[in-house]
Amino acid sequence: MKLATFQHNQQRCLGLIDADAKTVSIFDVSTKEAEHGVQYLLDLLADGLELPPVRERTSLDNVKLDAPLPGPRRNIFCAGKNYLDHVKEVAKSGLGSGQTSGSDAPEYPIIFTKVPESVIGPQAKIFRHANLTNHLDYEAELAVIIGRKGRGISRENAMEYVWGYTIINDVSARDLQKKHQQWHIAKSLDSFCPMGPWLVSKDEFDGNNTAIRCWVNDELRQDSSTSLFIFDIPALIETLSAGITLYPGDIIATGTPSGVGMGFNPPKFLQSGDKVKIEITGIGTLENIVE
Ligand code: MG
Repeated sequence: MKLATFQHNQQRCLGLIDADAKTVSIFDVSTKEAEHGVQYLLDLLADGLELPPVRERTSLDNVKLDAPLPGPRRNIFCAGKNYLDHVKEVAKSGLGSGQTSGSDAPEYPIIFTKVPESVIGPQAKIFRHANLTNHLDYEAELAVIIGRKGRGISRENAMEYVWGYTIINDVSARDLQKKHQQWHIAKSLDSFCPMGPWLVSKDEFDGNNTAIRCWVNDELRQDSSTSLFIFDIPALIETLSAGITLYPGDIIATGTPSGVGMGFNPPKFLQSGDKVKIEITGIGTLENIVE
């Protein structure tokens, strides 16, 4: 199933995208319940409850999608350097920063976070932040959505804790990454986490083996498969949950393949007006324009 958060008649609503992806069934929930988006539904399902009844059905053309989890409860967990071709392009660019600037696969997963307030929805503007960065970059990523509370989760059991998936653009200011060594500031500026278009439940496709592509102004820049993860989804969950309890609605961005702007010679950083479109087979597309 596909669960979405959106605006309809000037109100935030939650809904189930119908099979044809042309209409949406709107759940009968209050504005207050819809405040944190699909989080409300994930909490119901985690408690073993049913999804709410449907209030009405409408065309997707009549709604404006928000990020499915518009105000996550916690920072977004992110894997850095999780595709070998990306590790190599970063090393080659000379723009690598801080920890592990080499060209080998990291020995253990590299994890950083983005603040919840950096999340924006499909079609929302990515702020240019021209006073802070000249090296604005994009990173197409599959994001895993946790559906069940757990700590000390083994890789064998890890997929039982996954609810589903969405797309994230891990927008990054490369010069700030380099300047501050650690990546938190460079990847947490306002609007630096486009997310969407909705959540897709794990039964609908294989997160460890799906195509991921990114275009900037219709030029294909990233074209890869999540089968090339250095650390697959069970490995990331095992690592993160070893001593940190994971909760329903937690988001784990799984890293980006090669083809980011810093990987080109000369680099192709984002400029005002650029359109970034990410497509993951089985989920859909996420498109945003730089202000
Ligand atoms: Mg990333």
